[in-house]
Amino acid sequence: MLNIDLHCHSTISDGLLTPTLLVDRAAKRGVKTLALTDHDDVAGLDEARIAADAQNITLINGVEISVSWRGRTIHIVGLNIDPEYTPLTEGLKTIRDGRAQRAQNIADELEKIGIKGSLEGAYKHVGERRLIGRTHFARFLVEQGYAKNVKSVFKKYLIKGKPGYAPHDWAALNDAVSWICDSGGKAVIAHPARYNLGKNVLDDLLHEFRDLGGTAIEVITASHTPEQALHFAQHAKDMNFLASCGSDFHGPGESFFDLGQLPDFPAGCIPVWHDWKLVA
Ligand code: AMP
Ligand code: MN
Ligand code: MN
Ligand code: MN
Repeated sequence: MLNIDLHCHSTISDGLLTPTLLVDRAAKRGVKTLALTDHDDVAGLDEARIAADAQNITLINGVEISVSWRGRTIHIVGLNIDPEYTPLTEGLKTIRDGRAQRAQNIADELEKIGIKGSLEGAYKHVGERRLIGRTHFARFLVEQGYAKNVKSVFKKYLIKGKPGYAPHDWAALNDAVSWICDSGGKAVIAHPARYNLGKNVLDDLLHEFRDLGGTAIEVITASHTPEQALHFAQHAKDMNFLASCGSDFHGPGESFFDLGQLPDFPAGCIPVWHDWKLVA
C-alpha cells in the first residue's frame, strides 16, 4: 500500500471536505505525502499547508486543469507547481469564468426537460462561488430525487449525449502544460483510461504531451481497473513517462478509493516522486 496520494479534491472545487478536513483525513489514514489537486483552482493550498504542517505530513502544491484536445476533455494534473505564477493563476481564472457560462448552459438544457432552478440549486452546493462544475449539479439533482446517487445522475443527465450536457471549450493542452512546467511543476495526464481513446489517438496524445514537456501519467487511480493500471504502466515504460498515483477522492461515500488506500505500482514503474526529497 502506498502512503503517497497525489490527486484529490476539496470544497474549493467539487470535493466535499474543506482543505483542512481533507488533510486531516489523509493523515489519519496513513498518508505521508498528499497533493491537493482541485479542478482549475489553487485557492485551497494555503489552508491545506497549514493543516499538513500541523499533521506533520508533506503537502505537494497541485492542480487539475481542464483541457480540450481534439474535441475531448482531458485532465492534466500539475504537481509541485508555483501557485503564485501569474500565467497559471490567470489561466485558471479564465477557465473558472468559462465554467460560470457553461453552468448557465447546463441549466438551460435541464430546463428544456422540465428541471427548473438547477443553476441556483447547483450553486447551493458550491463552496465559495468561485468554481462550479457538473458535480454540483449532480448533488442538486440527487437532492431533488432525480437519481439515487451522483454516479447514476451523471449517467442519466450529465454526460455527453444526455439531456443536461453542455459542450464546452476548456484550456488548450499546450497552455496547460506550459503553465505547469514554466511554474516549476511536473505535468501529469490524469486517469488516461477514462478518455476511452483508440490506440492511435492515445498514441498521438501521449506523444504530443511528451513533446510539450509532460513527464508523467497516472497509472494508479480510482478510475483504472487493475488491468488498465497494468496497461498504462506499460505505456509509461515504453514512452519513458514517470508514473503517478492518486485516489481522486472527492468525499466520503462519493469516491471509489478513499485517501491512503492505493495499491502499489505494477513492476517497473518509476514513480513521479523518484527525485523528490520526501520524509517517509
Ligand atoms: P466538470 O469538470 O465540471 O465537467 O466535472 C467533472 C467532474 O465530474 C469529475 O472531476 C468528477 O468529479 C465528476 N464526474 C465526471 N464523470 C462522472 C461520472 N460518470 N460519475 C461520477 N462523477 C463524475
Ligand atoms: Mn471532480
Ligand atoms: Mn479528473
Ligand atoms: Mn480529479
